[in-house]
Amino acid sequence: MTLNNSVKILVIGGGLAGLTMVSALNRLKTKKNLDITLIEPSDWHHNQTEWFKYCNGYTQKYSPTHLVNLVNSETTNWVDEPLGDLLPEKSYVLTASGKRLDYDYLIIACGLSAKWDSIKGLYGKLGRDGIASVFSYENLPWSRSLLSETIAKRTIFAHPENNKHFITTSLETAFLYAHRKQKAHNQDDYEIKFNVGSSDLFFNSYHSEVLEKHLARKRIRISYGNSLMEVRPKTKEAVFYNCNNNSETVIPFDLLHVAPSMIPPVAIKQSTLSDIDGLVDVNNSTLQTKKWHNIFALGDISNATEIKNISSVIEQTPVVFSNLTALMDGRCASAKYTGLNHCFLTLEPAKSINLKTVFSKEKKSYFFSLMTKKEEPSHYLYFYRLLIEKLRFFNLVFNGRLIYPFR
Ligand SMILES: Cc1cc2nc3c(=O)[nH]c(=O)nc-3n(C[C@H](O)[C@H](O)[C@H](O)COP(=O)(O)OP(=O)(O)OC[C@H]3O[C@@H](n4cnc5c(N)ncnc54)[C@H](O)[C@@H]3O)c2cc1C
Repeated sequence: MTLNNSVKILVIGGGLAGLTMVSALNRLKTKKNLDITLIEPSDWHHNQTEWFKYCNGYTQKYSPTHLVNLVNSETTNWVDEPLGDLLPEKSYVLTASGKRLDYDYLIIACGLSAKWDSIKGLYGKLGRDGIASVFSYENLPWSRSLLSETIAKRTIFAHPENNKHFITTSLETAFLYAHRKQKAHNQDDYEIKFNVGSSDLFFNSYHSEVLEKHLARKRIRISYGNSLMEVRPKTKEAVFYNCNNNSETVIPFDLLHVAPSMIPPVAIKQSTLSDIDGLVDVNNSTLQTKKWHNIFALGDISNATEIKNISSVIEQTPVVFSNLTALMDGRCASAKYTGLNHCFLTLEPAKSINLKTVFSKEKKSYFFSLMTKKEEPSHYLYFYRLLIEKLRFFNLVFNGRLIYPFR
């Protein structure tokens, strides 16, 4: 499918960010003579927000979308392999099988993957023996049953230290679980703990305090600095390491919800483009990599912001699109990512709050707007969130017509 004198654009990762970019670029394909290639090893596109909804009983079924329904084979060359190696100085990448793919512009959007094997004893146990996770697609139906049906006196939510990006998903699951418990049981009949490996809940202290207040209302006891190291399914025990006093604690459970560490693909981590955490190191304004101006990164794999969610992707895609087309036209990349983020949390059925932030990497801080003062969950914010989530698909399906009315 190579076209003569065409501009070769390579997109790594066909998740939300990668597919939205492919979709948007397809609109320019003929006009700019683009040769678009997507590297995506999976046949299936997952909408992870739906995992959460399905597991918490919001929807009755979940099924991923086959990539052939989202990628136009006439306009995009889909290579169904993982990335093997990045060679930015030579302007090509190698796939896992060694296939060479040249590019003029590279867009990295390969997200983060769950690392389960750092928890001893967990292998093969997710979805059974009282161990659930909304982060594991393979076990969603079992996790759903466990979360809704287990009559648990002792429930533990375990969230690791190095996965603060996705803590909202663990928290929301805990909030909705606690809500069901409050409705159905006497408060002396159960206890819910939320053990988190880090020393705080969120990226700024104001939001952490708001969340702590809501956790207290739902009678969820939070404990900091506790990372899950081991599960003992036979005896229903979880072993936590506490970094504050360098000790191990064995806690019995009836129901344990586990969140994994999320890690970048090895090829990215080992490349010269990554930062100390293995994320792609970008100029957090233009979203170009710091070393190579013809390489962009967006979505979860980029280090432009610590909050990894749909809102980040929605804000980043038009910036990358605009800067990429500027470079193709011989102009400077002038579109700027502001770090604005709508971080929604559903605390009760159909009621959400919005931890709206603006992240400034230079100042290493988060600012939050007036909207964050609305600390009470509301129906309005819940439906606002649903609308944004629907729009993400709208963007994908309707040929990348990027629509961003909510800022
Ligand atoms: C359980 C869960 C629930 C969530 N709930 C919410 C929510 O309610 N609201 C919200 O805003 N956000 C939520 N998020 C976060 C949101 O899903 C992500 O921020 C968003 O999907 C990021 O898009 P992405 O394209 O960067 O990464 P992804 O959507 O993860 O896509 C990455 C793609 O890259 C591919 N890939 C991986 N490795 C390679 C490789 N080596 N080579 C090539 N391709 C590769 C993957 O197969 C995948 O298709 C949730 C995340 C999880 C895990």
